[in-house]
Amino acid sequence: MTGRSTGRSAERGGAPGSARGTGPATARDTAPAGAGPAGQDRAGGTGDTGQDRAGGPRATVRATERDTAPVGARGTGPAAETGSAPAADPGGGRARTGAGDLLALVRSGRAVTRGALQQATGLSRATVGQRLDRLFRAGWLREGAVGPVGSPLGGRPSVTLEFDDTHAVVLAAELDTRHARAAVLSLGGEVLAEHTGALLVEDGPEVVLGLLGAWFAGLLPAAGRRAEEVCGIGLAVPGPVDGATGRVVQPPIMPDWDGYDIRGRLGRAFTEHTGADPVPVLVDNDANLMAYGEQRTGHPDCSAFVLVKVSTGIGAGVVVDGALYRGVDGGAGDIGHIRVGADALCRCGSRGCLAAVASGGAVAARLAESGVPAASGSDVRDLLAAGHPQAAALAREAGRAVGDVLATVVTLLNPGVLMIAGDLAGTAFLTGVRELLYQRALPRSTAHLEVLTSRLGERAGLVGAGALVVEHLYAPGRVEERLRALGL
Ligand SMILES: [Zn+2]
Repeated sequence: MTGRSTGRSAERGGAPGSARGTGPATARDTAPAGAGPAGQDRAGGTGDTGQDRAGGPRATVRATERDTAPVGARGTGPAAETGSAPAADPGGGRARTGAGDLLALVRSGRAVTRGALQQATGLSRATVGQRLDRLFRAGWLREGAVGPVGSPLGGRPSVTLEFDDTHAVVLAAELDTRHARAAVLSLGGEVLAEHTGALLVEDGPEVVLGLLGAWFAGLLPAAGRRAEEVCGIGLAVPGPVDGATGRVVQPPIMPDWDGYDIRGRLGRAFTEHTGADPVPVLVDNDANLMAYGEQRTGHPDCSAFVLVKVSTGIGAGVVVDGALYRGVDGGAGDIGHIRVGADALCRCGSRGCLAAVASGGAVAARLAESGVPAASGSDVRDLLAAGHPQAAALAREAGRAVGDVLATVVTLLNPGVLMIAGDLAGTAFLTGVRELLYQRALPRSTAHLEVLTSRLGERAGLVGAGALVVEHLYAPGRVEERLRALGL
């Protein structure tokens, strides 16, 4: 089962365009740059195929491709269509006109009628119909409302097409050091049932992942869904993850998990507790998935998005052009262990790490030294919520330390949004971040920068994990693969 999924291909599938498809209404409304112009170019056209018209459709289709990626690159469909060239990929060689490509166009909102799909792909009406029929039979597509305007090809108002996000569900979980959160999500990212409970990562992967399997089994009936409807599982963990294997790599706060086969164990736990067939399991870093969830649902048009999670540890997730940026080894964004020159001992064994002076854990330790009962980032969060003045002062100081490091991050990436999330994310911490950030970073790199707190809050990681699974499974190449597996 584990072989069926790889984080890296999921990433490629997790595209700006398709990203919009599963988001909430706000995301969907922010429109498809590609679809409009192409459609308009041809508004005056008379014919029923776009095969001969070069400009518009090519441009549109290429844009789609960059998003949706050569996962299982393959030519599509019956020979009859291979001649319809507009979608030939100049780089990869795969014609971008398969059922998966049509689904991607619909999900992104770039083409939501049969006519618009013809235009975007250059396929004939009949061929689009055949492709769509496979998607209808799979239950992945449904007809929506009759469009407000007539078909761009002229004639009757056209029926819109929608991704049917009720045909399956996703399981998602986020591990923290001392508790975890698990949920059943719709394919559109809606939380259908959720459970939070104590769960110690130090108990090791065997125990923790086994328990998550049991949680999932209990959540499904609560969501009114069957285990057979689960199409995949996404897991957020507080450590660096190798995208190719889904294993954590030298994780400072989960040492027993180093190199462990998380996908395999969680997949088995799911089948053991539910009796259902194995499903793909995707694993990623928590800050990455929080960033992914927040960017897609709240800032889909932000092409450079950074989220910093400050809880027991400190980590950052980076989303560029709608896709997670993980770096070569999955280590991108691991800013908590940058040396900032202090002497404090870090959980990673080094001294002077940012996390050792500015994380929720570090602030809790400072509070405890002065007699305020606090042992973790969540304790600090509670104190901050209660307006504890010393906690606020320390949080602001921590914010300054993080802001100093973020000045470099912002200078390097020039993000449009810098989101602060996690236990310390609040006014005091944000004030400290801003103080140092604007002082140390070049004005040019902060001119259009928004520094915000999390919108999804504690659900960000779950939403991101669910989205990762959906983008993985509905990436065009994989759609083709899955339809064939269904005999369609
Ligand atoms: Zn460290």
